[in-house]
Amino acid sequence: MSFVTEPEIALVGKPIMEIDGVMKFLEDHGYQWPELEKKLDSMVSLGDDDGEWLVEMGGRMCYQSWPKQGETKKGRSHDAHIQHLIEVAHGACIEHANFNFAIWNISRSLSHELVRHRLASYSQLSQRYVDSSSVSFVVPPAIQELANIDPDAYRMWIEHCEKSRQVYEELTTKLSNMYDDIESNLERRKKARQAARSVLPNATETKIFVTMNARAVRHFIELRANPSADVEIRSLAVKMYKIIQNKAPLFVHGMTISKLDDGTEWVESSHRRV
Ligand SMILES: Cc1cc2nc3c(=O)[nH]c(=O)nc-3n(C[C@H](O)[C@H](O)[C@H](O)COP(=O)(O)OP(=O)(O)OC[C@H]3O[C@@H](n4cnc5c(N)ncnc54)[C@H](O)[C@@H]3O)c2cc1C
Repeated sequence: MSFVTEPEIALVGKPIMEIDGVMKFLEDHGYQWPELEKKLDSMVSLGDDDGEWLVEMGGRMCYQSWPKQGETKKGRSHDAHIQHLIEVAHGACIEHANFNFAIWNISRSLSHELVRHRLASYSQLSQRYVDSSSVSFVVPPAIQELANIDPDAYRMWIEHCEKSRQVYEELTTKLSNMYDDIESNLERRKKARQAARSVLPNATETKIFVTMNARAVRHFIELRANPSADVEIRSLAVKMYKIIQNKAPLFVHGMTISKLDDGTEWVESSHRRV
């Protein structure tokens, strides 16, 4: 049996701008996009920036604010364009950039809170199909503190997890025997696990694949990287913020990281609910 203490998150997918399609649209309309063209001349692809350029295209589509051939530059620069969309809460435009995350070492309590965010797509480890006999448990920070302050209470927590895992294993065996008339191994195990999992605690580790657009990411960070949120999901939301800050910083415009008295981090936003 193993215990984990920190949520893990990795960005595994992000948008790609199809330059041929963008150029076809511009040419068909006699438009130019000087800043994009300059950038493309200097690099093979936009790399990490594609999502931000796609969002600018969405924004410019609203007002057809590309200069015509021969005209001079029109409107804001790329950075200022996206910052402006956020400042005036034209949030629908930043929905055009989607990000895929793999998230693991999180408890079932956290995943239950996470999936309340409806404007995202989720694929979570199935406790019906996947055996939980050697599952890990996520130790909440307060329980970690108990290890030094009140070792007996800490041990009680650990033993409870171990006991629930053992009961799960025993029940899985007994339920499988009860269903021995079911020919398919897969079906028999699924029926056994779906009942036996009821004894596993909220601390049981899970893994989830999440897709969120930039607007949903901002909303999630605002609500969950907040001091009022549970510490585990706050830690995850702060990590998500750092990833987006690194890979697509314009989407977290107006957001800054701060420290609380206990040394943990949170994210403050000067443009809420864009
Ligand atoms: C500190 C904290 C404590 C919480 N405590 C509890 C609790 O005790 N019990 C509990 O049940 N939940 C609790 N929650 C969860 C909370 O109620 C929300 O379910 C969760 O934060 C998702 O927020 P959301 O609905 O704004 O986000 P999303 O579901 O991602 O939606 C984003 C936005 O889209 C719009 N939207 C989405 N769906 C609809 C709709 N059907 N109709 C109209 N507009 C829509 C809204 O503007 C919404 O803000 C808590 C959340 C936090 C941050």
